[in-house]
Amino acid sequence: MILLGSTGSIGVNALNIARKFDLDIDVLVAGKKIKLLNEQIKEFNPKTVVVANKASVQDVAHDNVLYGEEGILEAINESKSAMVVNALVGYAGLKPTLEAIKLGKKVALANKESLVVGGKFVDTSNITPIDSEHFGLWYLLSDKKVDKMIITASGGSFRDYPLDKLQNVTVKEALNHPNWSMGKKITIDSATMTNKLFELLEAKWLFDIDKLDAFIETKSIIHALIDFKDGSTTAHIANADMKLPIAYALLGKVEEQILKPVDLLSVGNLEFRPIESSRYPIWEIKDEILRKPHLGAVINAANEVGVELFLQNRISFQDIAKITIDAYEKFQDFMPLVIGDIFWVDSEVRAYIKKVG
Ligand code: NDP
Repeated sequence: MILLGSTGSIGVNALNIARKFDLDIDVLVAGKKIKLLNEQIKEFNPKTVVVANKASVQDVAHDNVLYGEEGILEAINESKSAMVVNALVGYAGLKPTLEAIKLGKKVALANKESLVVGGKFVDTSNITPIDSEHFGLWYLLSDKKVDKMIITASGGSFRDYPLDKLQNVTVKEALNHPNWSMGKKITIDSATMTNKLFELLEAKWLFDIDKLDAFIETKSIIHALIDFKDGSTTAHIANADMKLPIAYALLGKVEEQILKPVDLLSVGNLEFRPIESSRYPIWEIKDEILRKPHLGAVINAANEVGVELFLQNRISFQDIAKITIDAYEKFQDFMPLVIGDIFWVDSEVRAYIKKVG
């Protein structure tokens, strides 16, 4: 396989599955964690390696090293591997997804931003999602008629935090997720609930369904539910560990134990809560964005800038949603006709935020 983002949280878990099932790694792509990348090169012996920056090439222990976005696209083109695992973070994942699909390769997609941003132009027939909620929905689907799909949220780092103190939370507190250990960006997106908004958009493109919703389940044991037309509801229950969705995405069929089953007696009880805009202001635009999913390109660009500024201590936690909603209102007439319009709006939104300061 071609593994994009091998040194990240999903990438490392994908390599755990590759090790367990003896899967071949043709290409490894990473950003800045060159020490870890070199350990991965030693163990998995890829033909090609790609890093984010030219300056890092000399530190990589391999004789075929490419760099940058062009390097990623070239490696996808030249590899004979039929499977691309896209575990890059953010907008940087879109072009690799488009390229892989154009070449007829299968995509195991953790990079949900590819669909949030470019879903209108992405053929999902060759995509298997690496996201616990979408894996859960897929697992629950049967030949019965679906009425509604529901995904759950943990509520993120500030689920139980006093509302009046949210303005002053620190980056360290925001990165302290109660149930999952993940990369920085998705951990912040979980705290603002933007991650769940993105997952609703992802579900819309993947399953082509309009009736979608989300609520909080505080223990992250139920990941997805389906209301069937007949009035019954089924729920997908599994321990919070990405190895299960990754194993299915990489292997197709899984017949041995990847995770220990949930012991419901020791769980004892479960708690469900609505997602409230007073705590998660981004939720105000949830219904509208589901009606206008192409605006995912706008909220993703604004959110990426907001998260980056917050991580650099340049804005407050609550400013992330403010920046995102402001850009959403400013660009609400945007209607992409071709994929180039998506690239255009991404840079326009980033420039707009810079201009308004
Ligand atoms: P991480 O930040 O942990 O990993 C991102 C990976 O991408 C790292 O290997 C990083 O390299 C690499 N990378 C970043 N920028 C570049 C670049 N410009 N060129 C090459 N490589 C680059 O993120 P996660 O693994 O947490 O998340 C990855 C994706 O999966 C996200 O879209 C996220 O929403 C999604 N996802 C994650 C889940 C999780 O449990 N973590 C669950 C479900 C979905 P380096 O670290 O070396 O700089």
